[in-house]
Formats: sequence, structure tokens, C-alpha cells
Amino acid sequence: MTATIIDGHRVAETIRGELRTEIEALKKKGIVPGLGVVLVGDDPASRSYVSAKEKACHEIGIFSDDNRLPATTSQADLMAVVRRMNGDPRIHGILVQLPLPKGLDESEVLLTIDPDKDVDGFHPVNVGRMVLGQKAFLPCTPHGVIQLLVRNGVKLKGAHVVVVGRSNIVGKPVANMLLQKLEHTNATVTVCHTGTKDIGYFTRQADIIIAAAGKPNTITADMVRDGVVVVDVGVNRIEDKTKKNGFRLVGDVDFARVKEKASLITPVPGGVGPMTITMLMYNTVESAKRHEH
Ligand code: NAP
Repeated sequence: MTATIIDGHRVAETIRGELRTEIEALKKKGIVPGLGVVLVGDDPASRSYVSAKEKACHEIGIFSDDNRLPATTSQADLMAVVRRMNGDPRIHGILVQLPLPKGLDESEVLLTIDPDKDVDGFHPVNVGRMVLGQKAFLPCTPHGVIQLLVRNGVKLKGAHVVVVGRSNIVGKPVANMLLQKLEHTNATVTVCHTGTKDIGYFTRQADIIIAAAGKPNTITADMVRDGVVVVDVGVNRIEDKTKKNGFRLVGDVDFARVKEKASLITPVPGGVGPMTITMLMYNTVESAKRHEH
């Protein structure tokens, strides 16, 4: 069997189209969804993530309040920017790009964000709401993974999903979301990590594998059964002298071999990646809709 490749750009574009319609309806009621963005310092990767987020917002009609702060910014000044955005009615979502430069306390900053504007879904209040099955902003990458699956017709209800990785931003939240007793989730979930003795023992029993380890070739062909569905969240740089920039991006899955056994598989790049920013905009629009009345 050769897998069908899941096109993350296509799904992301469909959701962005839906969001455009919702934004037009909100604008008719005088509401322009707004995202407050804070970038501290000049880390090139963070700068390019933030620019991509701002560009995507402008393209679909979300207003963005861009705050570029120098790496020398004090904790007090950074907190003041976040507090100002908490109190600004034009801003429905706040994004502080991580990691922050050394010397700044990330968790204190994240705790300062109003949970009702926490569109990254990292505030403990939102994490708690999500685990309890209450209405919450869902973290963007895990939510993107679920949307990719659901919108490609993959049934999660009753499926055995094996998640590889247990980070707070991908593994743990995606496992929790899959567990929820909702019509489109309700899966049986196994979570593997570096303490797991034999990951293949579990992945060979999986209907769906979600790889989020951040290590190339974590999932090889001998670790999967025929017909499995594979979502590769990993983004790893591999040295490649044939490329102008000297590297190429690969996921956590041995794509070339695993795709010969899988029924559906996401590529890297072009799979989960385009979904993350899309779900950030989704959360911003959801937040703006809460201000409709
Ligand atoms: P992370 O914080 O480094 O966590 C990695 C997790 O995987 C940890 O729980 C770790 O176990 C586990 N792990 C590492 N090596 C393993 C192995 N060989 N076998 C089994 N488990 C292993 O990474 P993250 O932030 O979750 O990100 C994971 C990957 O997704 C990275 O490549 C990242 O770049 C990518 N990512 C992509 C997007 C996107 O938009 N496409 C967004 C976020 C992240 P321990 O807990 O035991 O250490």
C-alpha cells in the first residue's frame, strides 16, 4: 500500500476561507478581530515566525498590534506591555513569542496574559479547562493535528492513537484532546516517551500514530502496521550540502519507507506546519466572537 499524502496547505486554506467569512460578518457588526503580538530580542527564527503570523493575519483581515521590543527589555516593561493589551478592547488575542531572551521569566509573563485572550492556550487556566473538557482556547499545533485528521475523514472515535512525545505544547495536549468524550474524538490513547521501553511494541498496535519527539527516524517502517495513519509533527534540520542554506527539513518519521505501509501520512514540510498559524487565527476569531454581545 502507498499512502495518500495529507496536504496541510489545502486544509489550512479551507479553514482560512471559513475564517474570512466569519471576519466579514464580525466587521459588519463593527468588530475587527485583533491580535497583539510581542517579540523580544532579535532571534532570527522567532522573527520569521512572528512575521509569518502577522502576514497571515493581515491576509485574512485580522488587525495585528505588533510590538518589537529590544533584548534589553526589563521584566517590568514586558509585563506592562502585556497588561496594556489585556485592557485594550481592540485586542482579542495576545501572543508572546517564545523563547524569551535570558533573564526574562517566561512563566510569569504567560501567567499575566488574560486567560480570555490567551490564544496560544498555554495559560494554566486554559490547560485546566481543556483537561476538564470545558470551553477553552485549544493550543494551536495539537488542535491543528486533530483538524487535519478529522477533515481528511479519519475517524478518531474508538481508534487507538499512539502519541510519541509528552511535551506541554504538543504531546500532552494532543493526548488530552483525543481523550475527550466528544463526537469527533473519544479515542483510546497511548503516550510514549524516552522512558518507554519498546516504542515499537505500542506503535505496531496503533490505528493512528502522532510523532512529536523532535528526532529524525523515531518512527521507522518496522514500527508500523499496514494501513496506519501517520501524523508527523516533528521539524528537524538535517545537514544537506546540496541546499543553498546547507540544510533540509525532515520530520520524526522515516517518510520514504513508512509511506509504503501507511494509508494516510503527513509530509514535512507541508503537513502540520501550515495548520499551526491557522489555528492561532481561529482562536483569535473565536475570542472576537465572544465579544459580539
Ligand atoms: P520537546 O519539548 O523537545 O519534546 C519532545 C518529546 O518527545 C519529549 O516528551 C521527549 O521525551 C520525547 N522524545 C524525544 N526523543 C524521543 C525518542 N527517541 N523516543 C520517544 N520519545 C522521545 O519538543 P516539542 O516542542 O514537543 O516538539 C516536538 C517536535 O515538533 C519538534 O521537532 C518541534 O520542532 C516540532 N513542532 C512543530 C510544530 C509545527 O507547527 N509543525 C509546532 C511545535 C513543535 P521526554 O519527555 O522523556 O524528554
